[in-house]
Amino acid sequence: MPRSTSLSAQEFKEHLEYLKQNNYTVIDLAQALDSVQQGVSLPDKAIVITFDDAWRDIYIQGFPLLKQYNYPFTVFVNTDPVDQNQRHTMTWDMLRELKQHGGTLANHTRDHDYLVRKPNYDKAWLTAALANIDYAQQRLTAELGPVPKWLAYPFGEYNNRLKLALKDKGYIAFGQQSGGVAQFSDFQALPRFPAAGAYSQLKSLKTKLASQPFPANYTAFKNPVIRLDRAERGQPLLEVELTQAQKLGVRQQLSCFITGDRHAPRWPTKMKFTVQAEKVLSNGRNRYNCTAPIWGQKNYYWLSHQWLIYGGEAPPKQ
Ligand SMILES: [Zn+2]
Repeated sequence: MPRSTSLSAQEFKEHLEYLKQNNYTVIDLAQALDSVQQGVSLPDKAIVITFDDAWRDIYIQGFPLLKQYNYPFTVFVNTDPVDQNQRHTMTWDMLRELKQHGGTLANHTRDHDYLVRKPNYDKAWLTAALANIDYAQQRLTAELGPVPKWLAYPFGEYNNRLKLALKDKGYIAFGQQSGGVAQFSDFQALPRFPAAGAYSQLKSLKTKLASQPFPANYTAFKNPVIRLDRAERGQPLLEVELTQAQKLGVRQQLSCFITGDRHAPRWPTKMKFTVQAEKVLSNGRNRYNCTAPIWGQKNYYWLSHQWLIYGGEAPPKQ
């Protein structure tokens, strides 16, 4: 389990204990999605716990703690390593055991390949990407019984064409950009806050847990893949249409960050702001983050968008 995307059992226990001590309600992802989509209110301070990749450490170290706290959780599984009995991956028996104790298993493709780092986004590409996802779904169902139609994009990378194809097929899909979920979220690119690797410190996690999703029109966001080989500029413009401007004291206090540097947003209209990098972004994944204090609270509205800057080169080894 790579340190950059994981956390120790001790850190995980601290996170779970913090949730308990601060009256967070850890709910099942299916319940959370149903309620949010239908506009049914959730318990105050409701959160969900998800893991990507079927690492055996989740079973050995994480699962006993989750059982102890009686917290439901979801694991997005890439199925080929499980089928191949790789030693750092959970077995199907382990996954079945998770399912019996509050665990939901869902799709993370069969092989964790890049879905959109491909030369063309033609019909053959889309067919292959969907076949990869369908195959994983079939393997999960065959081994575990019915599983929800949820996909976590490997590396949080997707493009708008794939997103719409998944919507047609009835999938809800998750990225790796930061944020909470609300009815106005894009359900084929739902955000999640990372709580591992560089983000495992409880101090930074506290702020994120207390944040609220930024009310914006997420489905209007531009394609998140920037193709340098097609002469697209490596300084993508993020255009954000507000949906509840009247409630936001954001116009003066909005802060945006691009790879850690602060960038002043522009306001072409009262209901729309834009953010753009001043320098060409580096190849690979980049994130724009914007936050604004919530009026009368210590909390923040949080918005994040991940861009993939892709030059058409062969993808680096995972
Ligand atoms: Zn993954």
